[in-house]
Amino acid sequence: MLIKFFTLFFVGAALVAASVSEGYASSSRYRTLFSDRHRQPNLPWRHLASTEEESLVALLEILQGSPTGQKVIKAAAHKAAQVGKTLTDIIRVDDFSKTDTTLSRKFYVRHPEHVVYEEHSLVYLDKDLTVADAVLDLAHELTHYTWRAAFDPYAEDFTVRDLIKTTIEGAGGEVEAYLMECKVWGEIWRGRYSSSNCTKIYDEDHGKFSREKAISLFYQLGQHYEAWEALRELLNLDRQDFPYASNRPTLFVSSYYSLPYPLAAIKEFQGIREKTCRNEERRLRLLREQLAANQASAQQSVYYRLGRRYQQQCSGQKGFAAELVPPALRLMAF
Ligand SMILES: [Zn+2]
Repeated sequence: MLIKFFTLFFVGAALVAASVSEGYASSSRYRTLFSDRHRQPNLPWRHLASTEEESLVALLEILQGSPTGQKVIKAAAHKAAQVGKTLTDIIRVDDFSKTDTTLSRKFYVRHPEHVVYEEHSLVYLDKDLTVADAVLDLAHELTHYTWRAAFDPYAEDFTVRDLIKTTIEGAGGEVEAYLMECKVWGEIWRGRYSSSNCTKIYDEDHGKFSREKAISLFYQLGQHYEAWEALRELLNLDRQDFPYASNRPTLFVSSYYSLPYPLAAIKEFQGIREKTCRNEERRLRLLREQLAANQASAQQSVYYRLGRRYQQQCSGQKGFAAELVPPALRLMAF
């Protein structure tokens, strides 16, 4: 019996670029419509066509009208095609824009030492946006969908420091998604539709959007700065790893946690740890039962290794089951 032990929401995804077109077939119908409507950036996007689905296709047409948007669409469609989906299959409409990635871990009850991971991502688009904001949100979320790197939350080197850094500064992270939407804005609407967010990071001297400026905006913690400093110390995070952290007013807030991104990432890490520890506990119990039935099992060394990791990662967690750690390891301090 293959059991699915857990589903974990986390930020993640990866992969490449190639050819597109299957993403949203029958698009030629909307071409005329697009050429009229993209000049009306303040129109509610769902009014672009008679149905939500057709309006979404029209939005993709507008995004396709910019060279950067074209690149994003092509890469995202390629990634969707790898799991047999089209671009419109992986985009849903919701109360706010986001990209959800679910990681599932599966294993056979009889062989808890062998695990298989599966990853599924979906993009959600805010139903109440204007045409311009919806196109920019699409560019943003499709960047996450396409390039955000998957990570293994069970790995020994999975740390809160890395989660904060990769969420904000990593491949397909917030900064890259932000730069992508600003490039699209520059290519489609600059001069016709103002985007205060994008003008904040435009570097007049070099004539382009500044990655460094973008990073610093994500670390503006405002009234949360003291909480950040307290947590940073508690979690032994090096101040030098976060040189942009400041008490300047917060500009960007994670829609999941209603917190600035560095703090949202800490919360995310805590949630992930709770889940992975619970899952590991269950897996260790199964392993221990099997070892009790078969003393000479090759699973012994696996149990030892997993028990050590469980002790390292979970000993501070609520509900930590110390009895699951192999006895010899319990004597060792970590
Ligand atoms: Zn984002």
